[in-house]
Amino acid sequence: MSKNRGVVYMRPGKVEVRDIDDPKLEAPDGRRIEHGVILKVISTNICGSDQHMVRGRTTAMPGLVLGHEITGQVIEKGVDVEMLDIGDIVSVPFNVACGRCRCCKSQDTGVCLTVNPSRAGGAYGYVDMGGWIGGQARYVTVPYADFNLLKFPDRDRAMEKIRDLTMLSDILPTGFHGAINAKVGVARSSMSPAPVLSAWPPRLRPASSARLSSWSAISTRIASPMPPRSASSRSTSMPATIWAK
Ligand SMILES: [Zn+2]
Ligand SMILES: [Zn+2]
Repeated sequence: MSKNRGVVYMRPGKVEVRDIDDPKLEAPDGRRIEHGVILKVISTNICGSDQHMVRGRTTAMPGLVLGHEITGQVIEKGVDVEMLDIGDIVSVPFNVACGRCRCCKSQDTGVCLTVNPSRAGGAYGYVDMGGWIGGQARYVTVPYADFNLLKFPDRDRAMEKIRDLTMLSDILPTGFHGAINAKVGVARSSMSPAPVLSAWPPRLRPASSARLSSWSAISTRIASPMPPRSASSRSTSMPATIWAK
């Protein structure tokens, strides 16, 4: 019997925690992948972009297991995994990437050319992103583990801050990427503060990133055409689930 349970999209406006298949070291097309690991999920976020599927704004099919912001412990690994061991605590970037294609080699891992037969770019638990099973679950498979996973060097320290570290999968680096692309930098007195134009909560992350990088004079402004739609949307991308110690 399966030990796995996950958050499953049922229909617009409806998700359920259900029994799901145990993960295997297999790609969505059934190929055996020895470069992958299986994680016991420690923590995960509900992302704002999950809401697109849950609210019925996509072509997601019933049965899709959600979740692309995953922190977990390695419990099984393929024979080609060289830099990770059983028991390691790791952060999983939201985009699945091979590390070998032209895009990955130029650091454009969000549009990896090999992990989604339909188009460039793959992700866990997301419609049209390659069929990789999501990680709002007890267990999940991560391919290309040596390339994709960020190992936390000190297990005890990682567990002390695990809710903060859960932000490393998507929301913090997404905000950081935005701050870099916007060329936010150290301000001179004659310069205006950099406005961060986004809706809650992503607007906080570019601002946090700027602070982390010692960039100064940041002000945040909500410029979204849509106000927060509900308590659930205000709380998106905060740690939602702690599955295991
Ligand atoms: Zn996300
Ligand atoms: Zn690639």
